[in-house]
Amino acid sequence: MGAVSSPSVDLPSERLFATVAGQPAAVAALRAAARRPVHAYLLVGPEGTGKRAAAAAFAAALLCPGGGDGTCDSCRRVLAGIHPDVAVVEREGAAITIDAAREVTRLAARSPVEGDRKVLVLTDFHLVGVAGPALLKTIEEPPPSTVFVVLAEHVPADLITIASRCVRIDFRPVPLAAVVELLVADGVSPERADHLAEVAGGRPDRARLLAADPGFEARRQAWRSVPARLDGTGATAAGLADELIGLLDSSVEPLKARQAAETSALEERNARAASVNGKVGRAARADLTAGVKDLDERHRREIRRQRTDELRTGLAILAGEYGDRLADPGSRAAAIAAISAIDELGRNLVRNPGETLALQALLVGLDR
Ligand SMILES: [Zn+2]
Repeated sequence: MGAVSSPSVDLPSERLFATVAGQPAAVAALRAAARRPVHAYLLVGPEGTGKRAAAAAFAAALLCPGGGDGTCDSCRRVLAGIHPDVAVVEREGAAITIDAAREVTRLAARSPVEGDRKVLVLTDFHLVGVAGPALLKTIEEPPPSTVFVVLAEHVPADLITIASRCVRIDFRPVPLAAVVELLVADGVSPERADHLAEVAGGRPDRARLLAADPGFEARRQAWRSVPARLDGTGATAAGLADELIGLLDSSVEPLKARQAAETSALEERNARAASVNGKVGRAARADLTAGVKDLDERHRREIRRQRTDELRTGLAILAGEYGDRLADPGSRAAAIAAISAIDELGRNLVRNPGETLALQALLVGLDR
């Protein structure tokens, strides 16, 4: 061993980045960076291009005692979102607040719990807005133990100064073929992989979730059956809306099961840590509690995000059914009206918690 020196032997394992589909250049840059990281990286690319998965793999590589093997306890905990030295900071509202910026500065100043390094992942940073100046100094000169990984869909004016202090890594839209390849590697049949990649809008994370979801096909059929089942009455529309919302609720069950496993893994680890170190200081105990709270908050956001994704997928399927009627001159005008009503609901629903009523109103107005 070691007689032949190859530049790749010290790099984090490729397998660690296996879930980052279709981004060979970004993955190569991150693997190389993990050997001698600087203080901040900016991952830029549209939603669904694998930035979050890449940030998790990169954080695992940075903290791994084995240089990023992807298999040790530390790597597994980073990838599961339960490592105490990785914090993912999410925005709460439409922009990043000054309070959130203060929280980032506080987290950056904290010492690592386990090793000599910690990673702060800042998400949705294209929405940095007024918090930009407050964060500049922290990101520019963090304590030597902190590495920032900043995620943004693009670089608006508010972000330019911060961006100039980071090493930038670009994420391109993922080619559909790469998503298909990822699913096939997971054991999905090529035909089903083609279909899922397209339904997921080319987003690898969503495609994998759908592939692992046994109820997906039934939900798709339910959305497709809507036009044929409408009879112009409010009662039918209400019944259908209830049924579709019920399916939406059931669609988050696989995610909830995964989250429950994450929570019990974290609680078990905390209990172990508390019993090994009988004199856990108050600060350390507070950190453990905070870990559980952070996880709960992340879980709630994941569920909200998934419900929105699922509803958008359903509406896209429904719009597709009307799209098939565009070729027929007799139903063309009604189909166009239906598609634009569906589009509008899709845009509004993201902010509107009254999804059942909105869906009922849409269905009542739709052409049979
Ligand atoms: Zn490891």
